[in-house]
Amino acid sequence: MVKSIVQTQNAFFASQRTRDSHFRKQYLKKLMQEVLKMEDAICDALYADFKKPKFEALATETQLLLAELKHAIKHISIWSRPNPVDFSWTNFPSKDWIQPEPYGKVLIISPWNYPFMLAMAPLVGAIAAGNTVVLKPSELSPNTSKIIAKIITAVFPPEYVAVVEGGVEVSQALLAEKWEYIFFTGSTHVGKIIYQSAAENLTPVTLELGGKNPCIVDETASINLAAKRIAWGKFINAGQTCLAPDYILVHQSVKGKLVEQLKKNIVKFYGEDVQSSTDFARMATEKHYEELKQSLEGEDLLFGGTCSDADLYISPTLVNEPQIQSGLMEGEIFGPILPIVSYSTQEDLDRYILHYPESLALYVFSKNRKFQKEIMGRYRFGGGAINDTVIHISNKNLPFGGVGHSGMGGYHGKHSFDLFSHQKSVVKRANWLDVPMRYAPYNIPIRWVKRIRHLF
Ligand code: NAD
Repeated sequence: MVKSIVQTQNAFFASQRTRDSHFRKQYLKKLMQEVLKMEDAICDALYADFKKPKFEALATETQLLLAELKHAIKHISIWSRPNPVDFSWTNFPSKDWIQPEPYGKVLIISPWNYPFMLAMAPLVGAIAAGNTVVLKPSELSPNTSKIIAKIITAVFPPEYVAVVEGGVEVSQALLAEKWEYIFFTGSTHVGKIIYQSAAENLTPVTLELGGKNPCIVDETASINLAAKRIAWGKFINAGQTCLAPDYILVHQSVKGKLVEQLKKNIVKFYGEDVQSSTDFARMATEKHYEELKQSLEGEDLLFGGTCSDADLYISPTLVNEPQIQSGLMEGEIFGPILPIVSYSTQEDLDRYILHYPESLALYVFSKNRKFQKEIMGRYRFGGGAINDTVIHISNKNLPFGGVGHSGMGGYHGKHSFDLFSHQKSVVKRANWLDVPMRYAPYNIPIRWVKRIRHLF
């Protein structure tokens, strides 16, 4: 099946039909209509997968995607045009331009935690740029995977865009084929496998991976607001967010106040009995739930820590000063567990943050501008926010992506179009002048050649 899809997509791409930006635009419009039509069904699928609250499903999955679609539809004609650049005097007379070109067949592999948006948002960029796509959604969110397949089948012929559902074996079968671009969102561990596999054919990749995102709160921060914004960013999607603050580094002088405010906000958001709240999601798989539950063993809990095996439920949990070597602090925490670590000096911050590879995000809460600037410049991370969490993902003008261990490449808005386009450089020479200097025999004085750099 995979082989036949690959063959038909090769033929379809070779037919040149996707080079027409109007053609792409029509399909993006159709996709937008279909998503709008299916919005409630998408929310139902997300609820069936891990009890994702409807508000969160709309705000963080469908509406973000619709905004991407609208932006791409509006700008696709302009983005697709050749972009003229200054000529070089060495080539005079000439016209020079950069022509954005589709790569060909794109493979998109996506995760389960924002299973709709993280599958569909890269697709918008890949289609806008004129590629064909094979999309493999996560097998761990089967209801969303099905609805994605239904939407794509209703909009696109499979030689243009196809969904291949399934798990690791399916992913491996897809990776065995030759692609012109691979876009992967998922864990760093699997990201390495994807990168190795892509290297076989020198296929360019985007890797959207995870990491341990620090969240620093200094003694000047507006603590009440910081607590509210941290609790929101951490517990939305029940902490299963690649951009969620992973752990808090709080100045020891304000730790008590921050903890009190965090507790207060959790209760305000979800009530005293979080399990009965319709606004709090569940862990997506039993394995994932068990790992998180185990990571709490032996820890000093400041709040929460309630787990329900029947429901794969873990309550919003605050952990007091876990050891950096503990199971909890070993890797990314992909759930509603928030460690709180106090610091006193910049050296304390360095020791903690530099212990881990580059994170996808970093947050700092402070009113001290010098400190804000220092923190934003000092560490390597994909992107971040000052005095808030997670929200930088919602600005389509900001490329979204990681660095080092948290990934490579950034997308959203025009950045998506550029990511899925090869920037082809073209020089068009005029014939009325042909300076003989470059041709052998080289009779030109060497001292002249040494000055040639002024012409480039
Ligand atoms: P995962 O890496 O386990 O799986 C992602 C995809 O890869 C799935 O479609 C899966 O079927 C496939 N896959 C799994 N094992 C494979 C293998 N051996 N060979 C080929 N394909 C394989 O990730 P996940 O558990 O679905 O998602 C959670 C991770 O994703 C977290 O680490 C999180 O930080 C990260 N993430 C990153 C972003 C981002 O935008 N940077 C967004 C969401 C999630």
